[in-house]
Order: sequence, then C-alpha cells, then structure tokens
Amino acid sequence: MPEGHLLHRAARDHAAGLTGPLEASSPQGRFTAGAEAVDGLRLVHVEAYGKHLFHHVEGGAVVHVHLGMRGVLIEHPPPAPPPRPQVRLRLGGERLVVDLIAPQRCELLDEAGRDALVAGLGPDPLRDDADPELAWERLQATGRPLAAALLDQSVVAGPGNVFRAEVLHACHLDPFLPARELDRPAFDRLWQTLGDMMRQAVEDGRIITVAPPSGVARTDLPQDEARVVYKQQRCRHCGGAVAAAELDGRTLHWCTACQGAGDGAVSPGGGRATS
Ligand SMILES: [Zn+2]
Repeated sequence: MPEGHLLHRAARDHAAGLTGPLEASSPQGRFTAGAEAVDGLRLVHVEAYGKHLFHHVEGGAVVHVHLGMRGVLIEHPPPAPPPRPQVRLRLGGERLVVDLIAPQRCELLDEAGRDALVAGLGPDPLRDDADPELAWERLQATGRPLAAALLDQSVVAGPGNVFRAEVLHACHLDPFLPARELDRPAFDRLWQTLGDMMRQAVEDGRIITVAPPSGVARTDLPQDEARVVYKQQRCRHCGGAVAAAELDGRTLHWCTACQGAGDGAVSPGGGRATS
C-alpha cells in the first residue's frame, strides 16, 4: 500500500510538471464528468495530506485522490504514450503527464469538501502545518496497542505498515504498549523519528531505513535489504529474531530483542508476554 511519502513526492512532481492549461480525461470513463470539469483549467496548488492527494484547480474545484491498496500514479514525460484503457484519470501539463489507475477514490470536491475530509485526519509529519499535540492527545485517549494506533489515520496521517514497523523499531518501542502509556519524551522521539524517516523516503522515493554498506548507493539497496525489521527474518540492527503477528488484519513485524525489553516484553507468537 502506498504510504504518505509517495503522495508528497507526487504532489511535488505534479506541481512542477502540470503547468499550463490541464488536459484532463478519463480513458476508463469512470471519471468523465470530473475530468471535463477541470479540463483546460490551471492548477493553483497541489498538496498531499497523509495518503490523500488534492489538486486545487482555478475556480475552486479540487480533485481528490486516495490510492487505497491497489492504486498507482504513473508519470510520463510528454508526449505520453496512449493511455491504457484502465486509466481513471489522465492529467497532462506542459512538462508532465500523469495517469491514475485503480484508485480507491477519485472525486471532485470543493474547498469545503477538502476541509471536511482533512478535519478527520491526524497531523501529517510531512506537512509544515502538522501539530504533534493533536497526535499526542489522540494517543493518550486510547488503550489500543501503539502499533494499531499508528496505523489509525485519525491519529497520525501518512504512515502505513512499513513506517509503523520501522519507526517503532528505531525508537525501540514495544508495539503492544497501550498507546496511552507512552510517556511524553518517548512520544517526542517517536514523532521526530517518524518525520525524519518519512522526509528521507520522500527524497529516496521509497522507504530505506538501513545505512547501506560503504560503496553502495542508498537507492541501489535491494528492497528486501532496505528495512531493519519489516518483512525480515532477522533484525538488521541486532541480529535477533523478528516476530510477525496479525494486528487489525495487517501483519506487524518487530524485533523481539530490541523491542521486547523491560515492561514491554512481547512474545514471538504475538501479544504481550505474561509474567
Ligand atoms: Zn533487534
């Protein structure tokens, strides 16, 4: 599933490349009216908020995209090849053509609709206007495991399964710690680390949380060697066993050594070890 860094990277690329009057179409036919509403108009602003992307068009229309589990955005330098038939929306500008395929949502909103949607989201660490106090308050209000709360977009907007596993490891936090038991210094470290990790991923274009061996470029690291615990057998930090468990239908990965110490001891089978 695309995580927030990809939407922020897309927003940056689209703002730079979709200049001039938009050429908008829906080759698949499922967004024809929306595409016609913005065709020929100019983009005023493109923003990402968590996993949501908003194209603000002159006149007040906003194209809202959420990729969901299967959605993809494909960028072409113009002239672009003919669109594939499943392209929901093609947006063309002077320097870029973007194809949107299989989104969970692609809809036309106005500014009020955008604001209403964003009001339900927690702060996005990649945004300059993010207010970490809101995330702190919402974590304090739940006894759910920290790992579950971190995937709740009304707590923090943007992280998905990879960021949550990697940031909990980077902060050596027990994923099953009830969120309200996280203390303030640990929250501050978590917020800072998550923001740093996500900003780096925007630059890299993917999530890389390990330092590459000398002589290897970060982005040359194979995907399965680029994470410390996510989908790993062994922790790349300590070599300890990585456990996996289902939590709210998503697989959580954590290091039983780095993240199992002290009060927050966890068992490899999932759940908190009983003492
Ligand atoms: Zn470890």
